[in-house]
Amino acid sequence: MEIPLSLPLDHDGFVRRECPHCINQFKWHHGPANEEAERQPSPPAYYCPLCGQPAGPDSWWTQEQIDYARGAIAPTAARAVEEELRDAFKRTRSKHLKVEFKGTVDTPEVPPPLTEPDDMVIVSSPCHSYEPVKVPGNTSGPYHCLVCGQAFAI
Ligand SMILES: [Zn+2]
Ligand SMILES: [Zn+2]
Repeated sequence: MEIPLSLPLDHDGFVRRECPHCINQFKWHHGPANEEAERQPSPPAYYCPLCGQPAGPDSWWTQEQIDYARGAIAPTAARAVEEELRDAFKRTRSKHLKVEFKGTVDTPEVPPPLTEPDDMVIVSSPCHSYEPVKVPGNTSGPYHCLVCGQAFAI
């Protein structure tokens, strides 16, 4: 089954992320931020700008994004369950026993799309400046490079 999932970007093209280690949120740029970034290979892991711990590219979902994904999947999943039930009832039909499937499985509503506020401030590391991140404005660093984990102050 295919689930349409799109994550909202803020006006600078950043998407919200959550560190699986320190549970703090930051943002990274969605797709290459510039021409130099386009020429770089995708790193096997990214480093949290706030705590410096690495994790794979798919490990950075925020709780809101996970909840939204679950909600978006629910109607499709419910339909699939209903179809399977109907098939199962068809198969049990015989001369002596007639079973009918009545009623429907409740189909949950698709949640409203997420929105992305234009919060946080852009910082870029001296070592990999083509990969800027956004960090909460109330933090003071030092921050860590998203690409290599190197600490830097701003
Ligand atoms: Zn972290
Ligand atoms: Zn770096």
